[in-house]
Amino acid sequence: GSIVVKDLADQLGIKATELIKRLINLGVMVGVNHELDKETAVIVATELGAEVEERASVQEQEEILIQGEEDAPESLRERPPVVTVMGHVDHGKTSLLDRIRSTRVTQSEAGGITQHIGASVVEHDGHPIVFLDTPGHEAFTAMRARGAQVTDIAILVVAANDGVMPQTVEAINHAKAANVPIVVAINKIDLPDANPERVRTELTEYGLIAEEWGGDTIMVPVSARTGEGIDKLLEALLVQAEIMELKANPDRPASGTIIEAKLDRGRGPVATVLVKRGTLHVGDVFLSGTVWGRVRALINDRGQRVKEVGPSMPVEVLGFNELPEAGDDFVIMPDERQAKSIADARANRLRASSESGPRGVSLDEFYQRLKDEAVRDLNLVIKADVHGSAEALAQALDKLSNDEVRVRVLHTGVGSITESDVMLAQASGAIIIGFGVSMESKARQLAEREHVDIRQYRIIYEAIDDIKQALTGMLEPKY
Ligand code: GDP
Repeated sequence: GSIVVKDLADQLGIKATELIKRLINLGVMVGVNHELDKETAVIVATELGAEVEERASVQEQEEILIQGEEDAPESLRERPPVVTVMGHVDHGKTSLLDRIRSTRVTQSEAGGITQHIGASVVEHDGHPIVFLDTPGHEAFTAMRARGAQVTDIAILVVAANDGVMPQTVEAINHAKAANVPIVVAINKIDLPDANPERVRTELTEYGLIAEEWGGDTIMVPVSARTGEGIDKLLEALLVQAEIMELKANPDRPASGTIIEAKLDRGRGPVATVLVKRGTLHVGDVFLSGTVWGRVRALINDRGQRVKEVGPSMPVEVLGFNELPEAGDDFVIMPDERQAKSIADARANRLRASSESGPRGVSLDEFYQRLKDEAVRDLNLVIKADVHGSAEALAQALDKLSNDEVRVRVLHTGVGSITESDVMLAQASGAIIIGFGVSMESKARQLAEREHVDIRQYRIIYEAIDDIKQALTGMLEPKY
């Protein structure tokens, strides 16, 4: 499949010189009588706004290769949970992770050197649990904003002497927006002024009711300093995992997510992959975003070379042709030719399109999407100058829900609009409502880049009016 430049120009109804200019912009140097390969023709035509059937089929072909077949229920096996630690600054996230990781070195494993690969595997009662090494809801939501959700369970760390703080609330809301269940670690119980009961009471306000109080949130008092309660916490994670029935088919070509990538001086591009399903083997050919390769070596979190890894497991992969990006999918391909051709096609598409990444929702477009049945929820993040107005606004907006569409307030907070708010909005397709607050410049830049709609108001009823009108398609477009 190829086409001569001037024929393509005819088909597109433009001058050949115009088409050549476009091609030069794409880095393709040709004359009117040159032949273009199909891929390039499709890309340039698409860029010029033509409806191109081939493009759809190329992408469809990719989908089929990448998604593979659905797994039959009987092929599914239990898989370990993947856990992220979240909570307010200084409540002990890092200490807790360190303490948990240090429990795993048993006699038989002594001598294994801990490698930092971005995630660690800890065993409890013979069951593995996978911990992501970067704590915090910011890292968690940044991954989601890139289209990847790898965490199954969030540990919410709350210091027993300090109680629920602003970032505790943020962490709760970020986890909830992602539908990730929370296990609470009430930390620092070794301190004389520790008050675990107060923490339990405060958390009820955010819908987290302790099991011993008749709710369904597991809360475990711990001390990262003394190690008290750590076993119980690990036990709780396994109980939570069992409730969730986490499963995957190990007997298929692997797919997963890149959780970390770096250029290593000696080894070239290396990345840690968290396998979602299937089993990854040395020698497998893979594709990740626009890069590809063949697995040269697999190294686990103990620095050991392994031949294969199964679902939920993190592993460092050597053999990338270039550096992949954290958050990108990682999939096994049948052969190098297909991996390379899809990687190249993606790279070309990326170059040809001015926009990249998922688009945020805008309030102006909301009604259209509602009519197209693309959405059923209007997700909101609310930031206000004082707690009272944030609550008042959240309640008033919540009441606008009707049979067709639900207004979901994902997070309310006091203070200026931050990068973390924008990431949450992007990851969840939400709109940000600011009431009498400013915006951090980094947040503004991110919102512009990712097309996150931020609306700022000084009068409550104006905010309510805008949302009401967006729900009924009456919103005056904002230019
Ligand atoms: P992060 O900001 O949430 O990662 O918190 P860190 O792990 O850095 O801990 C903050 C401070 O609290 C440090 O000085 C820790 O030594 C201390 N800390 C953490 N866990 C405990 C604990 O269980 N008991 C006591 N007494 N101090 C703790």
